[in-house]
Amino acid sequence: MQDTDVIVIGSGIGGLVTATQLAAKGAKVLVLERYLIPGGSAGYFERQGYRFDVGASMIFGFGQNGTTNLLTRALQAVNVSLDVIPDPVQIHYHLPNGLDLKVERVYEKFLQNLTAYFPNQSQGIRRFYDECWRVFHCLNSMDLLSLEEPRYLMRVFFQHPLACLGLVKYLPQNAGDVARRYIQDPQLLKFIDMECYCWSVVPADMTPMINAGMVFSDRHYGGVNYPKGGVGQIAQKLVEGLVKAGGQIKYQARVTKIILENRSSVGVQLANGQIYRAKRIVSNATRWDTFGKLLSQQKIPFAEKKWQLRYHKSPSFLSLHMGVKAEVLPQGTECHHIVLEDWEKMTAPEGTLFVSIPTLLDPDLAPSGYHIIHAFTPEWIDDWQGLSGREYEEKKQEAARRIVDRLEKIFPGLNAGLDYLEVGTPRTHRRFLGREDGTYGPIPRHKLRGLLGMPFNRTAIPGLYCVGDSTFPGQGLNAVAFSGFACAHRIAVDLGL
Ligand SMILES: Cc1cc2nc3c(=O)[nH]c(=O)nc-3n(C[C@H](O)[C@H](O)[C@H](O)COP(=O)(O)OP(=O)(O)OC[C@H]3O[C@@H](n4cnc5c(N)ncnc54)[C@H](O)[C@@H]3O)c2cc1C
Repeated sequence: MQDTDVIVIGSGIGGLVTATQLAAKGAKVLVLERYLIPGGSAGYFERQGYRFDVGASMIFGFGQNGTTNLLTRALQAVNVSLDVIPDPVQIHYHLPNGLDLKVERVYEKFLQNLTAYFPNQSQGIRRFYDECWRVFHCLNSMDLLSLEEPRYLMRVFFQHPLACLGLVKYLPQNAGDVARRYIQDPQLLKFIDMECYCWSVVPADMTPMINAGMVFSDRHYGGVNYPKGGVGQIAQKLVEGLVKAGGQIKYQARVTKIILENRSSVGVQLANGQIYRAKRIVSNATRWDTFGKLLSQQKIPFAEKKWQLRYHKSPSFLSLHMGVKAEVLPQGTECHHIVLEDWEKMTAPEGTLFVSIPTLLDPDLAPSGYHIIHAFTPEWIDDWQGLSGREYEEKKQEAARRIVDRLEKIFPGLNAGLDYLEVGTPRTHRRFLGREDGTYGPIPRHKLRGLLGMPFNRTAIPGLYCVGDSTFPGQGLNAVAFSGFACAHRIAVDLGL
């Protein structure tokens, strides 16, 4: 028996923001993490002097102003902070038909770069991105807390009526519909698709306008900033803050079951049989893992079934973690790249190639004279199942060769300059991140009404909440931090804190 207010299953950024927010409000919080370190998809691993980010490395939410800088605020809430390094260019795109474009941190420079490729669409470009700013200004003017809490909604409405009405207007809209109001050029619309796809993993027509407004504006406002010491530092610092605020975390504590009594969640059981009880349970695992595995003793609630009709699992990734000689990177290389040779393949496995080179911002992540390159591309787990050990290794090596060949075009000499290479597959993501099929997260099955279909934190099971990328507003570190703020706020109200 434990004298605990809240148990959080998982220490991804969503789980840790929930935990730290609640601990800061005086709740007794216990985080149970199945792995050795915190962070989940925002974790890290070390090999031969290199410190690799597991996944995320283009980080929003570290701005200093407004209210959307949720990572800065989450750290501040538990009296910790992180040094961050501003990235002057969000992405360098290498796209079909010679569309080679940098998204500069300075908004006007970005518009100039894009307009240079599409001079007859200059007005439409400005009007589309300006509309994204309108969404952002609405979000950035108010405290971002639980939309399931009526008193908060009333307060925020009276304080910021215009911003609230603005958000209500944009909530059911998708970025593609807004883009087509202003832009006619098919190539430019493809570019807008890619602008969305590279973080939402769906084209613009299926990307909620609220999320697009956040990303397309915040990159020029708070900017993209890389944490000194690597992305893993965010979770490490949140844990430091959690413990300072009186919370606890246990590693290698895999929850296998959420315990129900009278249909309410009252505790959890670990793989080693240990039982912990608390007044409220929060799952930072994906919804598929939460309802399909941790609650396998009972039928999936109707609300979840309905949700699964609207959303399905996105693919996972094939990841190449490389250590390379510094001379491989031409002068002026940017940290983040997107590579695509054929528009038809944008959403196909091994179509869009994402590249991060964090050592261009923080050289201490690699031995002197070397850089890290993380290249990843969507892959489905089905293509990696049922292989013998040898077949699996061979398939990894073949896939790695194809990716390195593609990268040679922008980094000539890459193959010869390789010092270290480790390949992760959807199976690796499933195993180390505990995410069903290694999925990146939920994506709409078909075109939906913006963000209206994404569930908030409460679930159909009393006492059980979900947090992280299977909840509103979706994937990305700043988005899951939002979900963490909202979840903690709702629980604090429920517990009377
Ligand atoms: C390759 C890749 C690149 C990405 N790039 C970016 C990027 O550049 N920028 C960005 O903002 N986002 C990026 N993302 C997305 C971002 O990393 C995720 O959306 C976010 O980290 C998800 O956080 P989360 O809190 O929802 O869950 P997760 O990170 O999945 O964390 C969940 C945690 O729960 C633990 N857990 C699960 N089940 C159990 C259990 N039964 N018992 C105990 N513990 C459990 C897991 O071990 C894990 O630590 C990327 C993701 C990937 C995979």
